[in-house]
Amino acid sequence: MTDTTTLIILGASGDLTERLLLPGLASLLKSDRGVDVQLIGTGRSERSPEEWDDVVTTAFNGDAGSDLAKKTLASSRYIQGDPTTVEHLKALFEASEGTPVMYFALPPAISTKVIQSLAEIDLPDGLRLALEKPFGSDEESARELNAELLKIVPEERIHRTDHFLGRATVLNMIGLRFANRLFEPVWNSENIEKVEIFYDEVLGLEGRAQYYDKAGALIDMIQSHLLQVLAVIAMDAPSSIDSVELRSEIARVLRATWVKDADPVASSRRAQYAAGTIDGKDVPAYADEDGVDVERQTETLAEVEFEVKTRRWAGVPFILRSGKGMTKIRKEVLITFKPVPALPEGLKGSSTPDTLRIEISPETMELGVTTNGSGNPFDLEKSTMSVTLGKPELTPYGEVLSGIFHDDPTLSIRGDVAERCWAIVAPVIDAWKADRVPLDTYAAGSTGPKDWPA
Ligand code: NDP
Repeated sequence: MTDTTTLIILGASGDLTERLLLPGLASLLKSDRGVDVQLIGTGRSERSPEEWDDVVTTAFNGDAGSDLAKKTLASSRYIQGDPTTVEHLKALFEASEGTPVMYFALPPAISTKVIQSLAEIDLPDGLRLALEKPFGSDEESARELNAELLKIVPEERIHRTDHFLGRATVLNMIGLRFANRLFEPVWNSENIEKVEIFYDEVLGLEGRAQYYDKAGALIDMIQSHLLQVLAVIAMDAPSSIDSVELRSEIARVLRATWVKDADPVASSRRAQYAAGTIDGKDVPAYADEDGVDVERQTETLAEVEFEVKTRRWAGVPFILRSGKGMTKIRKEVLITFKPVPALPEGLKGSSTPDTLRIEISPETMELGVTTNGSGNPFDLEKSTMSVTLGKPELTPYGEVLSGIFHDDPTLSIRGDVAERCWAIVAPVIDAWKADRVPLDTYAAGSTGPKDWPA
């Protein structure tokens, strides 16, 4: 066997491939973590060699940059065919060199069909599978999908992708927490008032109704990415950063994570954007967008309060929120500390609590602390210490692909965790389906519904 990996992208004519996967591959191949990759894209759509070459070259930003990147570019090809058929899958394996990695950049229902077809084939040694979110549509379907996958490859060769785990700031949280003396002693309910994780986008639907209208903000963001961010913030220190220890700590903390007070009605809110203005441009109401089924009542803004029932976190609210069509981008973790138990007599002024703000994008970190004022030194004021983290060499997808090519599932979601994340949000999904939580509205380009407490 050679050291070559063949990356077979199923659904290579789609948005994910062009916008995220190929640029991620390029960033990896141009870095010093690059590997020898043969690239095969496949899909039912026709693509001439020139068209495919154009797509890949654009993603590689014209300049191939490194010998590995040049080699991948030169050998890359598109093989047209239906990935759900046994014949086409066999042809793809025959065209591969070395170890194949099959990346499912497909709608989830189609991925399931491909997995069934793979079960009928004598598979190449070492085959790795990479699957995108959403992984199943509830706990039971995720369990069934896991069972189907395990019939064809072992768990360590299944990469359930969550590119948030490849984001520099999320990874940095591990370094920040466990490689400093400063934070870990205060990282608990005695010192922390609340943890908020925001992922607000200015963008609206942008023509993605086919996928988004069935998912909504809760499933698109909170059930997947934001629960992973919560896990990295709330987990205990792993004894090592590897696929066993890190993922065990993530699994352990998520097993202790629940909708606050088991009361989804009091602990969740949902809303959908109405017509509004964003950056001076009129934006139609979500319900008027092409492909939206108004009966579904899909939320474009979701907020859920969770609790982590461990000794470290008992009583601390973890509030996760994500919205589309908001007035400004806000992608951050905000940790608010408790006020000091008592101020010495004579210290006056700002008593707002200390905060740690970790921006997911762009990568910055800000510690908000109380300091002496510039006038009367005993009049307190707030100051911020900010750090801009170095620009990561790899994009989040580059990081994800690096793990897959190096046969290291540390940053991929373990099967039991994929199931658990559905179980955590199930009470909210049920309450929303039963209309026990009203669907509020907000104007596109606003901060959310007017009567939502800030
Ligand atoms: P698309 O809807 O663009 O579909 C990808 C490709 O799937 C299509 O180009 C199509 O290729 C193929 N396909 C569609 N229907 C069928 C079918 N019936 N049989 C066989 N192939 C089919 O998806 P995206 O690229 O947007 O996303 C892919 C996956 O990644 C999804 O699971 C999504 O949830 C996930 N994801 C996407 C993100 C994004 O920003 N796009 C972000 C994070 C995750 P063809 O017609 O050529 O066969």
